Amino acid sequence: MQSVVPFHSGHAGLKQLLGGKGANLAEMTNAGLPVPPGFTITTDVCRSYYEAGKQLPAGLMEQVHQAMRELEQAKGQGFGDPAKPLLVSVRSGSVTSMPGMMDTILNLGLNDETVQGLASLTGNPRFAFDCYRRLIQMFGNVVFDIETYQFERLLHRLKQRLAVSLDSEVSAEGWTELIGEYKTVIRKEAGREFPQQVEEQLALAIEAVFRSWNNARAQVYRKVHQIPDEQGTAVNIQTMVFGNMGSDCGTGVVFTRNPSTGEPVLYGEYLMNAQGEDVVAGVRTPVPIAKLGEEMPLVFDQLVRTAEKLERHYTDMQDIEFTVEQGKLYLLQTRNGKRTAQAAVKIAVDLVREGVIDTGEAVNRIEPFHLDQLLHRAIDTDKPLHVLAAGLPASPGAASGVAVFDADTAEAWARAGRKVILVRSETTPEDIHGVLAAEGVLTSRGGMTSHAAVVARGMGKPCVCGCEALRLTDRAFAVTTADGEAVTVREGDALSIDGATGRVILGEVSLREPELTGELEQLLDWADEIRTLEVYTNADTPEDAAKARSFGAEGIGLCRTEHMFMSAERVPVVQAMILAETAEERAEALAKLLPMQQEDFEGIFRAMDGLPVTIRLLDPPLHEFLPNMEQLVVERERLNGQPDADPDRKERLEKLLRKVRTLHEMNPMLGTRGCRLGLVLPDIYEMQIEAVFRAVLSCLREQLDVRPDIMIPLVGHANELKRMRELVTRKADEVLGEFARTFRYRVGTMIEVPRAAVTAGDIAQHADFFSFGTNDLTQMTFGYSRDDAEGKFLTHYVETKLLPDNPFQVLDRDGVGTLIEWAVERGRAVKPKLKTGICGEHGGDKQSIFFCHGAGLDYVSCSPYRVPLARIAAAQAQL
Ligand code: PEP
Ligand code: MG
Repeated sequence: MQSVVPFHSGHAGLKQLLGGKGANLAEMTNAGLPVPPGFTITTDVCRSYYEAGKQLPAGLMEQVHQAMRELEQAKGQGFGDPAKPLLVSVRSGSVTSMPGMMDTILNLGLNDETVQGLASLTGNPRFAFDCYRRLIQMFGNVVFDIETYQFERLLHRLKQRLAVSLDSEVSAEGWTELIGEYKTVIRKEAGREFPQQVEEQLALAIEAVFRSWNNARAQVYRKVHQIPDEQGTAVNIQTMVFGNMGSDCGTGVVFTRNPSTGEPVLYGEYLMNAQGEDVVAGVRTPVPIAKLGEEMPLVFDQLVRTAEKLERHYTDMQDIEFTVEQGKLYLLQTRNGKRTAQAAVKIAVDLVREGVIDTGEAVNRIEPFHLDQLLHRAIDTDKPLHVLAAGLPASPGAASGVAVFDADTAEAWARAGRKVILVRSETTPEDIHGVLAAEGVLTSRGGMTSHAAVVARGMGKPCVCGCEALRLTDRAFAVTTADGEAVTVREGDALSIDGATGRVILGEVSLREPELTGELEQLLDWADEIRTLEVYTNADTPEDAAKARSFGAEGIGLCRTEHMFMSAERVPVVQAMILAETAEERAEALAKLLPMQQEDFEGIFRAMDGLPVTIRLLDPPLHEFLPNMEQLVVERERLNGQPDADPDRKERLEKLLRKVRTLHEMNPMLGTRGCRLGLVLPDIYEMQIEAVFRAVLSCLREQLDVRPDIMIPLVGHANELKRMRELVTRKADEVLGEFARTFRYRVGTMIEVPRAAVTAGDIAQHADFFSFGTNDLTQMTFGYSRDDAEGKFLTHYVETKLLPDNPFQVLDRDGVGTLIEWAVERGRAVKPKLKTGICGEHGGDKQSIFFCHGAGLDYVSCSPYRVPLARIAAAQAQL
């Protein structure tokens, strides 16, 4: 097995084997770009390492040594040679990019002897000892698991002693002193000396990088981004070039386009006289790339040209790491750049317009879940904002919450239902669970390419970083505003950030929901040309319907009519209807509800003029509209304790309590709900049907094109639907009168009980359409309560990989999916034109949409904000 592949032997097509970084370094090397020579240890080795119980495979180190000999020859240096020491970096490189999640060691090959060699060779002892102390720190952290602060604290003290603030002001003697202290830390914490044998350094470093594949933050990142654990990482070993050798050296990161907005300009940051980690770790705040044009015009020109070349080569925006060593440019990495959703859309559309890619490719490049981010919130208020400071606008969107100052608290408070803003001096990848839990992230240090920014952008979280005006202490920050006001924000205080402008604002602010941009509309139009699956929406109000239509919904797939019963002024009428003791009382309450429902339907029909509107008749058990039993019992105790309490009130309470007791069911989700309610209490359904068709008549009078589909919930037996259909037809005929002969409407059913799916052939006899209610269908197929499972065993199931996903989020293809396929096939065998769709939560999930496309459904229906996502995913399913 070839475990080691030199850069000059690889290419971009070998990404699975070489990881993204290794494959790209090989591709760049072969394109003649200035890449320091190196080689890649393949991802196969990582898998073997884990399979063998964390043992490097036999023979690997021989291949590594052979490759090192080649590097020595290429550079005219020797690994461990005190006269001309060869130094290398050892970096991770997974197949799917996971920025900052795994480990890197730079300057490997330095020891007490070679450092002297490097000092005399470069004539720069300050530089040589700086490299050495960095190696010991990184090595200590990555190989021996010693916390970084143990080293940082000593560095901080040294700088205090020397009365300097920048690393570059520390002398060679200063570094030598620090090296002594660092070695003591290693001895104390690792129980051994820092290895002086360079071959041992190399073997330990390779193993540590493989180990870092399974560190906690990498595991969290993989879970969030659905990267398989089996993928493994490659290890790249590359000869060092130095950005910290003097004032004609530097290092930086550039994106070929702005990763936040997509603007086609070179974008990025650099630091003079620094090593790569200084930029990405966010320890020093770097300088915008345009300044390099002033400081080193020739290098800048070469960088601009190289960036253009790379972008054309990869036909996508690139994220490039470079180093300048004594005025010469080197490329250390290129990869497709992470970007905000806004940038992703703009870049995809621009690349089509520039003739680089076609429209299908542009649609394919959009991560559907990113559209959630694109439709991000913005601050919406006329009131003056209490702006505390401004940082870098690192990831767009505005967020409000309470300030928390560490990731664990962020996670705990968010779990308890609080919205939090995570405030850190800089985030390290260990904070990823806090970032995930927070509404937004604020840091006082670090640039736009720091970990905080990259990770937040990837997750679509608002982020402001490098806000240096904040003076952070343990659980608070102090800041002096532009007006000179001194403010302290403590843990739990309300705080807002605006990731689009970088503003940090005291208190909560109201947020405006987003709208579509021109580029997104263009992309969605392209998606519409491609897809065959239609996209409907779940909407219960005229406002939601209009919003969804503006996002491109082609109909309403589910209007949950019970939501129309839930407003404060309607609940008492609904309760009166439920509590009625005589038919007259009941009819009276229903008569009050009828015009209310009619008005809602008219509003929805107007908003959806010309498009189908699927109206589902009442579904939940009636007790959901009544107070719960415990509350009532407590209230009764209270009233009984008051001798002068109003007797009428007491009587009403008793009546309510009796009714609640009668309606009580042990398993209400399996009880009197859906069509069962319609069959035993037909007058409620009759009222609803009457309201629908009265609304139809009034809209027809307004010359609107009304297309109602009446949907019966929770059908499990064909006879249920047969009777319900008769009810709908009778009532519709009654209301429509002479229009009944010409006006077309459909009657269909939800398929959300497994028996309905299994007997779909019988049910189709009475149905014009099937809508798969996959929330209930998942609940009843698995036998998992949709209301309880998630906080309980289901989380455990997903975490321990017993199940690949939460089946209430991602449709279970094998079980629920098979029922759907079966039902579609049986239904269409009876009625070839039977319309089929899905209206459970899965209608807005990419993987589930792919399934629906494959199963031949006509449409998916999802919440209004997911409509753009569904349009893109439906097109991708077609491609
Ligand atoms: C379903 O069960 O999937 C559905 C859409 O209905 P509800 O969520 O209202 O039960
Ligand atoms: Mg349901």
